[in-house]
Amino acid sequence: MRRSYLARFMRALGMNMKLHNGQCSCGSVTFKFSSNTLLAYQCHCSICRRATGSAFSTTIMASETSFEWERGKDKVGTYTKESGYKVSFCTQCGSPVPNKFRGLPLYTVPAGSLDDSSSLEIVVHLHLGSQAAWDREPATGDKFDEIPSLQTVMELLHAQNQP
Ligand SMILES: [Zn+2]
Ligand SMILES: [Zn+2]
Repeated sequence: MRRSYLARFMRALGMNMKLHNGQCSCGSVTFKFSSNTLLAYQCHCSICRRATGSAFSTTIMASETSFEWERGKDKVGTYTKESGYKVSFCTQCGSPVPNKFRGLPLYTVPAGSLDDSSSLEIVVHLHLGSQAAWDREPATGDKFDEIPSLQTVMELLHAQNQP
């Protein structure tokens, strides 16, 4: 099936690309990718709370073609829930690391793994309807009580990069 929104998303990621580097906390796993901006979504669901140990996950998407493991690819473990929810992590230190996104030509990259995230911007909030009582009302970004379609999320993630 041809997904035109996916093609648009990949095109937006590919414009004026900058190189980004990241690693796990012990440094065994390192990676790099190119992207034009660092636009992130935060997911406030209970699974992301358990997976991160915090109030939400913060994630950006990188195109598979620009993504490269530099070191420690053999140290990357992956856990997939029955629902399809998937996390990858360093098997030495347990830090979340990028993972291949649902059979699409994309990697999800945990924002905290980036060496330089000074230009990162949160543009989408998911599952605010089930956020922790100790989580806060987000200051910026589009907000959803649950999760909209993948197309909507992708359009928001590159909306600011349209020519
Ligand atoms: Zn590690
Ligand atoms: Zn979540």
